[in-house]
Amino acid sequence: MEASKASAMAVGGLKPEDLYDLGFNEVREFIEGNKPRRLLIQLPNGLKFLALNVISFIKSISSSIEVYLSSDPSYGACALALDDAMIVGADALIHFGHIEYPLATKPTIPVLYIPAYYLGGLPEKSMERLLNEIQLLKSSAGVVIAASAQYVKLVKELKKTLEDLGCEVITPGSGSHQGLVTGCNYSSIPVGSNYTYIVISSGYFHATGLCLHLGMRAKVFLIDVTRDELIDMSRECRKILAKRLYLVSQLINSPIKRVALIIGQAPGQYRPALVKAIEDKLNERGIDVIKVVARYISLNELIALDQGVKADAYVITSCPRLPIDDLASFHKPVITPGEALMALSGSLKYLYPW
Ligand code: SF4
Repeated sequence: MEASKASAMAVGGLKPEDLYDLGFNEVREFIEGNKPRRLLIQLPNGLKFLALNVISFIKSISSSIEVYLSSDPSYGACALALDDAMIVGADALIHFGHIEYPLATKPTIPVLYIPAYYLGGLPEKSMERLLNEIQLLKSSAGVVIAASAQYVKLVKELKKTLEDLGCEVITPGSGSHQGLVTGCNYSSIPVGSNYTYIVISSGYFHATGLCLHLGMRAKVFLIDVTRDELIDMSRECRKILAKRLYLVSQLINSPIKRVALIIGQAPGQYRPALVKAIEDKLNERGIDVIKVVARYISLNELIALDQGVKADAYVITSCPRLPIDDLASFHKPVITPGEALMALSGSLKYLYPW
């Protein structure tokens, strides 16, 4: 869920295919080092338009490599297409659009991660609007900058611009990935009601995640690079959090007899320790637990599943964004592990993601 949707746009005179660094030097070294006979390519949907560029480059290194393209939506590096690789007998995988997911089990074949860094600069209109907020930024205890993988190279540029204007700027993390966040990992981001937060990304996904991490009163701005828009997330944050808290409070106050635990099957979404911890807590309360394994669960699959298991609530232990972004309209509570733990302890202090 971290790839941009810039495929149809030209930015700053650059053609869409020139807007992303496809890491061809690393690709060459990886191929020369591993000498795969069959190679699987995984691109997020937002970068699939670059598939032919990637395939023809690989073929130019060695025409004998059999190249396969995975059609998986590739929402994160947590979902490496290792099943696809196994089916076609691929002996190496190149995953574009994300950096390595720290919680994933070690893959059985060599994997190269190419983040596909955005090569354009900070978008002009958004920056103009952001600089109109300069008094607010200066009066903050600090401006915290975060970015999704593809835009993390813009963090330094924004930091310098704001510091030159007299702002106190914090870029959490270290090295070349300062400010990096994924949709479920904001652990490096300091929490403080006097900070102002700026997220550089495409679409609302990472800024929404930051709101979940920070809580209702956070001042979060999103620089949406591909749309060149500056979005004040305050209202959106409050709306989403209010909805999640309402769901948890409903669960605290209703008698629950059966819960279905959805267990991820993708290499970075299988969380056995978390599943066990929640299952144990549910069992202690005498709540019946049904365990379901899924690579991805859509609304249609959940509707079909519900006809069989008839659970009072569904806890998604794979990707914590599914309950919030994809399954929020289901007629029964579909919650994250953090929300399950809140409901079980009777707490309304929002906990994201677990
Ligand atoms: S688990 Fe979900 S939010 Fe976390 S990295 Fe994977 S796709 Fe993104």
